[in-house]
Amino acid sequence: MDGTQILTLGLGLQAPWKLKDQHLDTTSSPHRLELYVEADRGSLYACPECGKACPAHDFADKSWRHLNFFQHHCYLHARVPRTRCPEHGVKRVEVPWARPDSGFTLLTGCHVVGQGDACARRLSAIGSH
Ligand SMILES: [Zn+2]
Repeated sequence: MDGTQILTLGLGLQAPWKLKDQHLDTTSSPHRLELYVEADRGSLYACPECGKACPAHDFADKSWRHLNFFQHHCYLHARVPRTRCPEHGVKRVEVPWARPDSGFTLLTGCHVVGQGDACARRLSAIGSH
């Protein structure tokens, strides 16, 4: 298992999302681990209203603060599509690692409220369906 596979497992990424690149910025203090997530070109995404697999309409670059990677700050970056559903029109997809319009990943939210273990178990249960 290489570094990309370990980080992919740690993030809980599932198709169509995958870790494209990672970079540890040692010029900043504290150091920053930057993770870049993407989906293959031409991937289909679930419409947030009905769940139908739809093509991407367009993309927006988004960033989230993630849990620290050891002592380093960690940020997740992704190009998040809007779907073009024949029934519901153009809608921003919900990414599995964050709530809509949140600047933090779900695990970061768990950590901040001090319920890390219980929250991670709930997220794990959600992800296993
Ligand atoms: Zn729809």
